[in-house]
Amino acid sequence: MERHQYTTRQELNASQKELEKTWAFETRAILVGQAPDPATGSTIFPIYQTATYTQAGIGDNKGYVYSRSGNPTRTACGEVLASLENGTNGFIYPTGIAAIHSVMQMLKPGDHVISSSDLYGGAHRLFDQIMTPIGLQNSFVDAREIKNITNAIKDNTKLIWLESPTNPLMRLCDIQAISNTIKELNKARSTEAQMLIGFDNTFASPYLQKPLDLGADIVMHSCTKYLSGHSDIVIGAIVVKDSKLAERFAYHQNATGNLAAPFDCWLLMRGIKTLAVRMKQHHQNCVEIATWLSKHPKVKAVFCPLLESHAQHELYKRQMKMYNGMLSFELDASFEQVKKLVSSTKIFQLAESLGGVESLIGHPASMTHAAVPRERRLELGINDNLIRLSIGIEDVQDLINDLDEAFKST
Ligand SMILES: *Cc1c(COP(=O)(O)O)cnc(C)c1O
Repeated sequence: MERHQYTTRQELNASQKELEKTWAFETRAILVGQAPDPATGSTIFPIYQTATYTQAGIGDNKGYVYSRSGNPTRTACGEVLASLENGTNGFIYPTGIAAIHSVMQMLKPGDHVISSSDLYGGAHRLFDQIMTPIGLQNSFVDAREIKNITNAIKDNTKLIWLESPTNPLMRLCDIQAISNTIKELNKARSTEAQMLIGFDNTFASPYLQKPLDLGADIVMHSCTKYLSGHSDIVIGAIVVKDSKLAERFAYHQNATGNLAAPFDCWLLMRGIKTLAVRMKQHHQNCVEIATWLSKHPKVKAVFCPLLESHAQHELYKRQMKMYNGMLSFELDASFEQVKKLVSSTKIFQLAESLGGVESLIGHPASMTHAAVPRERRLELGINDNLIRLSIGIEDVQDLINDLDEAFKST
């Protein structure tokens, strides 16, 4: 078999494609898009570290001519992600934010976007500081209630941009119900006025939730987090299932040069192979730590939809296969004690980011949400004594002991 037979998912022969569809998530995560190298038999997909491709004659190439337009390692990475999200086409970007930017660039000045008020901080900044000055309009609403979204819809609304669970309070939105509502409203709108639903699936990963299956048009990832899983790269992705959207993203990616390097794509593919086993362990560790925290006398509140006491526990059970490793909690303590706690753990490391195998601890008010004015933070429910955990896959008793020691020292 020639390598070029694998250049795109569309070109994979029909029987191979049908076979891949019968595979479960775990199998697809390891194999899709990554058939053995025909030249050498290399079992692991190679890093095609090349800018250009030698052509046998004019117009006679193997599907690749220049690495901005296409690189086999990037193609393979996009294919496996598309398969995991039940989409048709995947595009890999240098960062998650670059992926969101590519979605924003599909819009025109004067278009209106609705997104959730507790949107990822970097996305909020992109909307507010980069896209608004060039003519995009934004509304930020509490997406837990569908009516807040529908009330914000205007004639020029083109995109609903959602996240679930959100950071740092792990709030959920009902993807299926929102999609159904928007699709119904779209029926009365002209072709030009159709609203798209874009979904940032970073916190869940496709193992836990598949927004395209629930009605979203575009799914986006900061693969820096759970998908790569080892905190060693920044990288992003878009997956779609509509051929027109796929064409637009492909055209745009080549035209703007907004794409990830082959080595980073390769590291991402390597990480994706273990996604399912990692997520199961994140979930398990999170169950035990959330339960332990909710019984701790110094803890005022735990924000984690896994807990039956959580207001959105039913939606969590309906929408997600299991949970991730993310929770936050409020400490019944002074700001000084909170600062002491986050800097005294030995396994949980004080750091930004999330979704890696190692556990991290953070203080949203002074770290991830420091740029949000204090009044606005309090409105969002981000108090000064809120602590966020990204629970890794270490031994859970070690993690609990680490937190216990830190609590005792504050
Ligand atoms: C980290 C993150 C991003 C941004 O991704 P980068 O890879 O850091 O550019 C976007 N959305 C969410 C939910 C994130 O956690």
